[in-house]
Amino acid sequence: MPAKLSKEMVNYRPAKKERRCGNCTAFLPQEGSCTRVEGRIEPFMVCDRWTPLKGSEGARPDER
Ligand code: SF4
Repeated sequence: MPAKLSKEMVNYRPAKKERRCGNCTAFLPQEGSCTRVEGRIEPFMVCDRWTPLKGSEGARPDER
C-alpha cells in the first residue's frame, strides 16, 4: 500500500466553500484522518484531492 501524501503535496488548507474534508469520500471522521493524506485531518479543511460524497452540496460545479 502506497504511503499517504503529505499535506504540502495536496495543498491542504482551510475550506472556503462547500468543498471540505467533512464531505469528501476520503475523510475518516471517527479517526480525524484521511485515507489519502497523512496526519490529523479536520472537517473544515480541504485539499486538491477532494472528492465529493454522493449527494453532497460540494458536488456543485460552481463551487471551488
Ligand atoms: S479533502 Fe483531501 S485531506 Fe480532506 S478528506 Fe479529502 S482527500 Fe483527505
